[in-house]
Amino acid sequence: MNSDTICVHGSRNNPDYTGAISVPIYQTATFAHRGVGESTGYDYSRVQNPTREKLEELICTLEGGAGAAAFSSGMAAMQAMMELFSPGDHLIVSDDLYGGAVRCFHSISAKNGIEFDFVNTSHLPEIAAKIKPNTKAVYVETPTNPMLQVTDIAACASLTKERGLLLVVDNTFLTPYFQKPLALGADLVLHSGTKFLGGHNDTLAGFIAARSEDLIEKIRFISKTVGSMLAPFDAWLLIRGIKTLAVRMDKIEENAWKIAHFLLNCKKVKKVYYTGFENHLEYAISKRQSKGFGGVISFEVDSRETAEHILNRVKLIYFAESLGGTDSLITYPYLQTHADVPAEVREKKGINDRLLRLSVGIENAEDLIEDLKQAFPAGGQE
Ligand code: PLP
Repeated sequence: MNSDTICVHGSRNNPDYTGAISVPIYQTATFAHRGVGESTGYDYSRVQNPTREKLEELICTLEGGAGAAAFSSGMAAMQAMMELFSPGDHLIVSDDLYGGAVRCFHSISAKNGIEFDFVNTSHLPEIAAKIKPNTKAVYVETPTNPMLQVTDIAACASLTKERGLLLVVDNTFLTPYFQKPLALGADLVLHSGTKFLGGHNDTLAGFIAARSEDLIEKIRFISKTVGSMLAPFDAWLLIRGIKTLAVRMDKIEENAWKIAHFLLNCKKVKKVYYTGFENHLEYAISKRQSKGFGGVISFEVDSRETAEHILNRVKLIYFAESLGGTDSLITYPYLQTHADVPAEVREKKGINDRLLRLSVGIENAEDLIEDLKQAFPAGGQE
């Protein structure tokens, strides 16, 4: 079955006496037993809840894995993933990452004895050069947030397999509709479900999908033990959001293409980062491993004043952190999502006070372009 059909039918309700086609929200903490040893299969919602289970099956089918687990946020999923590792373990991670991931690795995982090397994972030799006897995993975001660098997942997977390491891919930016890292050899896929999967900027969620039973069992054990799973109502919202994932992603990409080209011709825009440009450094890899380029564009303007001018004047586009929803958002990574990343690291990657990140929504592209035009300082949009 194709992904767009799975989005709609992958969470199909089991027929019950009502014939309801929407998955019920099992808003319950616990489940009664008819007698000793007679569980319905559900005991306590921290362990499993039928609404969450439907969503997990849906994500598992979309990602093509052995199983999936739903969490209360992307960061909760990341923290669960980190519990797979022990003090003394070493991880190689992308040097351009969502700022919360950097904060998690620097401030929590490092304190717990995990060592990190941050490298440009688009360059495989940089990964290979950092592998040590205690290296356990390679963690990549692709495309990265916010500089939109792309890692060759299949090439990275053959390297990690050869060395007995796990490959973890954050697939938030493309979703399984556009990219399936497990099919390319990754072992774990991580998501901020808050973004394109939920798709409406109204619910926090996170996911891990795993290639093997063994890995998903470990993740489920961590989830039920630490209690960071997704609540039933939020699971239902995610199921509903995913029904329109395919149409949203197609529309978002069509809009992003037009807006990226508009930005290219703006006088006050110095650089546009968009994976759909043929001159993007890893364009050939994107074409090969993904079905689409997604809806995030980062761009650098000529000065901090111009950046602030735009942020203060957008009307249709919200000045807000996050991405992946129906409504377009513009973010200032320097002061928002990446504020906690050490200044020298930010500067080196180009996350400066002139960089803006645009998450294109499903509005009419011409209206979005008009909004950007009026937000630029006079003469800046020509
Ligand atoms: N991964 C990426 C690529 C993100 O952009 C984010 C949040 O922006 C996260 C993970 C964390 O997800 P959440 O905000 O749902 O905790």
